[in-house]
Amino acid sequence: MKAKKEIKTEKVSKQKELGLTADKDDFTEWFTQLMIKADLADYTDVSGCIIFKPSSYAMWEKIKSETDKRFKKLGVKNCSFPMLIPEKYLTKEKEHVKGFAPQVAWVTEAGESKLSERLAIRPTSETIMYPSYSKWIRSWRDLPLKLNQWNSVIRWEFAHPVPFFRTREFLWNELHTVLATEKDALQEGEDILEAYDDVGTNEMALYGLVGKKTEKEKFAGAISSTKIHYILPNGRIIEGPCFHYDGQNFSKAYDIKFLNENGKEQYGFQCTYAITTRMLGTMFAMHSDEKGLIIPPKMAPNKIVIIPILFDDSKEKVLKKAGEIAKDLEKFDAFVDSRENYKPGFKFNEWELKGIPLRIEIGPRDLDKGIVVIARRDTSEKKEVKIKDINKFVEKALEEMQNSLLEKSKKLFKSKIEKTSSFDELKKLIENKKVGIVPMCKNVECEDKLKAETKGAKAVFISEDKIKNEKCIICKKKAEYFVYCGKVY
Ligand SMILES: [Zn+2]
Repeated sequence: MKAKKEIKTEKVSKQKELGLTADKDDFTEWFTQLMIKADLADYTDVSGCIIFKPSSYAMWEKIKSETDKRFKKLGVKNCSFPMLIPEKYLTKEKEHVKGFAPQVAWVTEAGESKLSERLAIRPTSETIMYPSYSKWIRSWRDLPLKLNQWNSVIRWEFAHPVPFFRTREFLWNELHTVLATEKDALQEGEDILEAYDDVGTNEMALYGLVGKKTEKEKFAGAISSTKIHYILPNGRIIEGPCFHYDGQNFSKAYDIKFLNENGKEQYGFQCTYAITTRMLGTMFAMHSDEKGLIIPPKMAPNKIVIIPILFDDSKEKVLKKAGEIAKDLEKFDAFVDSRENYKPGFKFNEWELKGIPLRIEIGPRDLDKGIVVIARRDTSEKKEVKIKDINKFVEKALEEMQNSLLEKSKKLFKSKIEKTSSFDELKKLIENKKVGIVPMCKNVECEDKLKAETKGAKAVFISEDKIKNEKCIICKKKAEYFVYCGKVY
């Protein structure tokens, strides 16, 4: 074969700095670089508030649509309430307001004038929704009421912000329901958690465990809180989608009453549910590596990039074929990176950094042989595939990648947990970036002591494992349950 002259490329001197320079073990630095360099988010001048750039926002939209699809089957309807809450509404349920008071941002002025009553920017919407619920619900025929909002809330956190994981403003859904009986409410709780878990597992490839919170850790104003928990490679537990069972706490405070089928007046039973943009952070942190982002194919806005290897004498032919292949792979949102001022190697790195699941390389020699080279982002595996077989191959490869990421996340979870009855052992586990399952009593002081002596680890959720004669690892009195203990984000 005669030598071919590659098309002149512009020198990109900053190529090296484009990639990640931190090790995943140096988690915070690695994650921060990933967020900026993979073009997921950016900082603003408002401390603790980030911009969701188009690619991360597209993935959030996917979470929304997948959740909505499942919600719809369970009778949930979307709506929109004001983001401002009059102070007198906010303070009606005492535990609730106590829990949120330190984090509420207030609007006190409009233009030149001071407001006669200050307005809270919602940290969550129970207190603005429930006065309306009280007006709208009259009889058992009005139940169940299941209203959901996709919005953003502000919680003025003073802890160190971590993009996607802990920010002052974040995006979420808040679903607030009213049911006639406790049984209906708890059943609904199971159904909604299952819907969230389905999105987490089958779309985001995240293995999680559902678990109830201890009294100390439950939501302000709730009877009980249950969340789906994930464990990151750095051993941190992530609290994912949640279900708070409020019983009649709010319905009594906000006068949400109905006439039951026997004509008797009674208070409704209430639940609230949320999934937040923290799930994006969890997904990015779970799957990605030192080369950059890895996204489960089902979540990837573009699943395939086609990179033509361009030479002067064959450019037209190769570009034409690349275009045909892209058209053939339309349902995977495949696109051709035909930029001529960048070398193929540069493009490989860039799309690896940005997490496109599959890369198709096509050059003139491949074209002569009727093949392309397909590389998988998660395994870096490269294969020659006949052009006529691409569609079938791609479909299977994406499915395999999706399954393999979930399997990996499940394995990681299992490898991170260990049971122990010794406090010293637990401290060691936590130092080694693991999560301990330990017997504890229900005393809040024991939880406080645990936190103080482990540099911030806590009893995150209650295990389903049956307790027998175990003793609390802190006070040595009779244990009431096993709890998962570790550090959380
Ligand atoms: Zn104890």
